[in-house]
Amino acid sequence: MSKAYGPDKLTIDQMHSNAKEAEFAGHSHYFTGKLCKNGHIAPRRTKGYGCLRCDLLKHSKSDAKRKPYKEYYQKNRERILLKARQYREENRDVVKQKQKNYYQANIERERKRDRERYNKNREENIERVISYYQENKEKILQKRREYRRKNKEKIREQRRAYYLKNKERLQKKQQEYRQKKKETG
Ligand SMILES: [Zn+2]
Repeated sequence: MSKAYGPDKLTIDQMHSNAKEAEFAGHSHYFTGKLCKNGHIAPRRTKGYGCLRCDLLKHSKSDAKRKPYKEYYQKNRERILLKARQYREENRDVVKQKQKNYYQANIERERKRDRERYNKNREENIERVISYYQENKEKILQKRREYRRKNKEKIREQRRAYYLKNKERLQKKQQEYRQKKKETG
């Protein structure tokens, strides 16, 4: 039996001889019988006109390149991961600096990626937070009350620090508020 191609399992003698006819018939492949630019006589894809023999070679070439490393990695996975971890621990500052450099060098792209990730998860995150709050409302409020009771001094201190840091802004806001109130009566 001769080889069949595509989801419609056509042999080359069942295929149309040009892309247009193949497309019209809903076939995924066609066969011209002519040489491709790399000298193959093989079916081609209706979408993109690619020669199947070329595709096959392209893929097997990159597979051949990847294969040795993949095998090496699989055999030595534990050792490689351990080594990487050791390196990271011993060179924490270098690694950190490198990551920072990378981020800086690719800042636009990284920012865009962060933004996309954030936007993608935003709705979900909000939903999650709200439903968590609703389900655990009592527990959360209880915890908050407890925290406030235990950290009265700390909270007062934080409030004072915040006020001092934002004094001008807060006073201005207050003034504006008073002014507005006066005007509207
Ligand atoms: Zn080809």
